[in-house]
Parts: sequence; structure tokens; C-alpha cells
Amino acid sequence: MNKVAFIGAGNMNRAIILGLINNGVSANDITVSNPSPEKREALAKDYGIKQTANNIDAAKDADVIVLGVKPHLIESVCKELASALPVNEKCFISVAAGTTMAQIQAALGGNKSVIRSMPNTPSQLGLGVSGAFASPQVTPAQKAYADTLMKATGIVKWLDEESEIDHIIAVSGSGPAYFFLFMESMAAEAVKLGFSEQEARQLVQQTALGAANMVVENDISIAKLRENVTSKGGTTQAALKAFTDGGLPELVSTAMQAAIARAKEMA
Ligand code: NAP
Repeated sequence: MNKVAFIGAGNMNRAIILGLINNGVSANDITVSNPSPEKREALAKDYGIKQTANNIDAAKDADVIVLGVKPHLIESVCKELASALPVNEKCFISVAAGTTMAQIQAALGGNKSVIRSMPNTPSQLGLGVSGAFASPQVTPAQKAYADTLMKATGIVKWLDEESEIDHIIAVSGSGPAYFFLFMESMAAEAVKLGFSEQEARQLVQQTALGAANMVVENDISIAKLRENVTSKGGTTQAALKAFTDGGLPELVSTAMQAAIARAKEMA
């Protein structure tokens, strides 16, 4: 069985640890490190995993090391680990946005086994999407374990090119916020129609949940689902015409291209 070290006890690593424990991974195989004690001690208390303030102690016996620190700290953490540990046999998984494979490998001292993963916020609920790109040094066994690890928080899409990480950012990485904006706009209008804020939120969230589940449960295209609920000359058709006349499909395309452009600037 692989031993896994989590560097950083923040939101993303917590989500992955929770998923692993829920999927039957032994707490004895998991260690977390974090400078301040509160978050790592809470993880140890909640899930029975090992915890330390020292990144090198956490990583020394680990086969897989998940780098869950903010992007500006990735390089310094990698240098710290590479200066103290033999890193050739280990597999590193970075969940940081905007830190490239070349930067991570350079900080580790060369062509090591590194996976860049781009999760999204619903990973915290086990409903996430992670896009993942592996360096050529990652072995099939390491890739299989990383796949299991990322699937603990949702679905995984393996990518052939690192540049596709930017596409994942535009679709699933930033995607939850697109739906939040849409739901926010619908709730605001519902309040104008006289519903309380609580009622508006409940109506909108249940509608979004129902629509998402209809997509999940029905093996037909999303366009067909839309057509099925759009009677000719009816209210839904009137609303959808306003969306298309207002350029919603083109606007979605422009927004996603803006996310890609920004991801390229940040790399
Ligand atoms: P976070 O909650 O701020 O967690 C980062 C953790 O790293 C904190 O607990 C921090 O500890 C710890 N830390 C700081 N310096 C450290 C060091 N030198 N060694 C070890 N740990 C250290 O951030 P997050 O939201 O989990 O994000 C972590 C990474 O995931 C980021 O790179 C982000 O780009 C990526 N990501 C997150 C999400 C998401 O949904 N949250 C989605 C996609 C990608 P202290 O608080 O004690 O300083």
C-alpha cells in the first residue's frame, strides 16, 4: 500500500483526505504537515491520520506527496523537500493553479515524477472534477494510485498536454462560479417578484439541483433535455428566446476564452 503525505492542511488537502478516508484508505498511511497547529491537529483528531509541523518528516516515508500549498509557495516547498530527501522514487502531485510542470520539476532538481492536477471547489463535497497531466517519469503504478487519490473527490480527466490544464480551468475549474452567477441572477429576480431571500434561494437551488440531476440521470443530449421542457409558444420558449436574442451562448464562449487567456497570463 502507498503511503501519502499531504503538505498543507488547507481546504483542498482536507477534501482529498476526507475522500480517501471515506474510500477506506487506512489513516495509518496518511500524514499531513502544516506550519500552524490548528488545522493539522483538527485533521488528526477527526480522521486519525498522523500530523507534523515538519514537511520533511511528513514526506520522508511517503510514496506520494500532495502539494496543497498556495501557488507562490510550491517552489520553496519543493526545494525544501528535494534538499533533504531522495525524491527520485516519489511521486509529487501539485494541485496549485498557475505553477507549471517545468517550474515544479526545476524546484525538485530535474525530471522527477510529477502530476499537475486542477481540481475544483465541489471536490470538497466529493462532487469535484480534476484535470490531471503527468510528466513522462510517472510510472503506471504511480498514475493508478494518483487516479484513486483524485477520484476520492470526484471524477478525473487525464490530459495528454499540459496546455489542456487551461481548458480544464475554463470548463470545470472556474465553472462553479458561472453557475453561481446564474443562480444569483435568478434569485435576485425572484426576490423582485416578491419571494423572500430564503425562499428565492431555496427555489433556485432546488431547480439547479433538479436540472443537474436530470442531465446525470438521462442518457440523452443536454439540448434534447432543453427541447423536452420547451413547449412551442410557451413560457419557457419565451424566456429562452430572450437568452438567445441577448447572445447568451456567444457570451459563454467569450467568458470561457477569457478564463483561458488569464490562465496563460498567470503561468
Ligand atoms: P488553503 O486553505 O489556504 O491551504 C493552504 C495551506 O498551506 C494552509 O493550511 C497553510 O497553513 C499551509 N501552508 C502554508 N505554508 C506552508 C508550508 N511552507 N508548508 C506546508 N504547509 C504550508 O488553500 P487551498 O484552498 O487548500 O489551496 C491549496 C492549493 O490548492 C492552492 O495552490 C490552490 O491553487 C489549489 N486549488 C484549490 C482549490 C480549492 O477548491 N480550494 C481548487 C483548485 C486548486 P497556514 O494556514 O498555517 O499558513
